[in-house]
Amino acid sequence: MARPLIADIDLDALRHNYRLARDQAPHSQAVAVIKADAYGHGAVPCARALEDLAPAFAVACLEEAETLREGGITAPIVLLEGVFEAAELERVEALGLWMAVHSEWQLQALLAYRPARPIPVWVKVDSGMHRLGFPPEQVERVWERLVAAPEHACDLHLMSHFATADALAPDYFQHQMTLLDALARRLDAPTCLANSPATLAWPASHGAWNRPGVMLYGSDPLEASNEASRRLAPVMTLRSAIIAVLEIAAGEPVGYGGRWRAPRPSRIGVVACGYGDGYDRHAVDGTPILVNGQRTALAGKVSMDMLTVDITDLADADIGSEVVLWGRADNGEVLSVDEVARHCDTISYTLLTGVLPRVPRRYHGAD
Ligand SMILES: *Cc1c(COP(=O)(O)O)cnc(C)c1O
Repeated sequence: MARPLIADIDLDALRHNYRLARDQAPHSQAVAVIKADAYGHGAVPCARALEDLAPAFAVACLEEAETLREGGITAPIVLLEGVFEAAELERVEALGLWMAVHSEWQLQALLAYRPARPIPVWVKVDSGMHRLGFPPEQVERVWERLVAAPEHACDLHLMSHFATADALAPDYFQHQMTLLDALARRLDAPTCLANSPATLAWPASHGAWNRPGVMLYGSDPLEASNEASRRLAPVMTLRSAIIAVLEIAAGEPVGYGGRWRAPRPSRIGVVACGYGDGYDRHAVDGTPILVNGQRTALAGKVSMDMLTVDITDLADADIGSEVVLWGRADNGEVLSVDEVARHCDTISYTLLTGVLPRVPRRYHGAD
């Protein structure tokens, strides 16, 4: 038998989540964010599965856009950070991409480059995230320079990113929104502001476009889930099996450093999955794991190729039993990647993007 670890990707769930994003914002178009290899799910198969639903895709860099074009994706693709050097503009034009412009040097490079057809541009404003974008007071002037250069740039949109859209506290979101509303009104600009949490929780931010990312993969991005976010369906199931079972006496340690000690005579299942596959080594004892669709817990530090799970209370569990690290078990039981992430002191994004290439992806649905 081959090593049983696999990442099952449910493309019907991806489509369900995309529709949910779209339905939350019926007056916006949703650009499907599929950067970082579609958050670890495989950019080309995910884009193909969404092609008839999503009018555009978004990635972080030219290389990711090239992968999509090579995979046969013809829809518009937005470069969320624009180009990293002026020399990339030729490829942006050749591949028919849209791009963010977030810095003076990018703006100058675009104005110095003469494409055969103008390039659609999203002007990025730093409304409070303090990462990328023009300071608000410079945006009007940037906008004017682009409007005055219709051979270089077309289809201008105002783009920004929220720092706290996932949080319950509305203050900082509102602060950013007030600033953006004023700018958009002054420039009469169509906007693209909302990430997943804003798409789900802040209708005021919905613009001409929204940019849902992690929600497409079924992770709930909200600090407090709402009616819509509870309907998200997991796309990735990280699935493996028990490859060995051992019985240990009370008091015996398991794994490196003996972090976990059996509180009673225990049965331990050894699972083919470790940090060398992307399962987070920060997972604490007690991190939930499904064995035969039943919840049990990690027992002992995660190794590179294996981890250990307490199956003392699962009489049926044995060598070959199904193990789900996150996602949906065969019996329908769901273990959300968000819950696992909380036990690893991280977020779903790092777990999903962290599944390493040695884990085969297997695709289902959407055909
Ligand atoms: C990644 C990203 C998104 C998507 O964010 P999610 O939280 O995954 O929805 C949206 N906009 C920008 C600029 C991004 O970099």
